[in-house]
Amino acid sequence: MSITALGSPSVSGRPGTHADPSSGPCAPAPAPVTTAATLLLNATYEPLCVVSSRRAIVLVLGAKAEAVDVTEDLVHAERLALAVPVVVRLTRYVRVPYPVQVPLSRRAVFTRDGQTCVYCGASATSIDHVVPRSRGGTHSWDNVVAACRRCNHQKADRSLAEMGWSLPHPPRAPSGAAWRLLGHRTVDPRWREWLGVPDSVSA
Ligand SMILES: [Zn+2]
Repeated sequence: MSITALGSPSVSGRPGTHADPSSGPCAPAPAPVTTAATLLLNATYEPLCVVSSRRAIVLVLGAKAEAVDVTEDLVHAERLALAVPVVVRLTRYVRVPYPVQVPLSRRAVFTRDGQTCVYCGASATSIDHVVPRSRGGTHSWDNVVAACRRCNHQKADRSLAEMGWSLPHPPRAPSGAAWRLLGHRTVDPRWREWLGVPDSVSA
């Protein structure tokens, strides 16, 4: 089964319910009625993406997904009232091709490095290029670290060898399901147990 097989959820037998025209379970729903967001899990409980709650409801009504966690708010569809889902799980497994690498952002670097300076452990306030850009250092996951203002200022355009500094471990691009969802939106606290992120991570 491919991801596109879920494109237009069949809602036959529910003439008043409109099928969502977008393709794929992770596609953003056009003109959502609600701004609430729902975490979509694969059948294996692996986090897939965040969809509008409206789209999640369409998936549940079409039996494409089941509610795992719900709010106290009710949405009325046809003759039934449905609790607005916070987390839903697809009833059938979908194979999803993911981007090879997590996009590099300041927030994502801070999250990877635990919000602390990799050189001294103080609270991180800036991004440092390990090999300075003026010396050909790239803006990439393996050359970017979280740093405090003091260390960043001290190091300036020098290399680690010149400073006599070292890194606790080589910086790497993060991987894992939660990383696809971190860094681009606020994480609902009720999603945390499914994302495997600690409470201290504000994403
Ligand atoms: Zn520092």
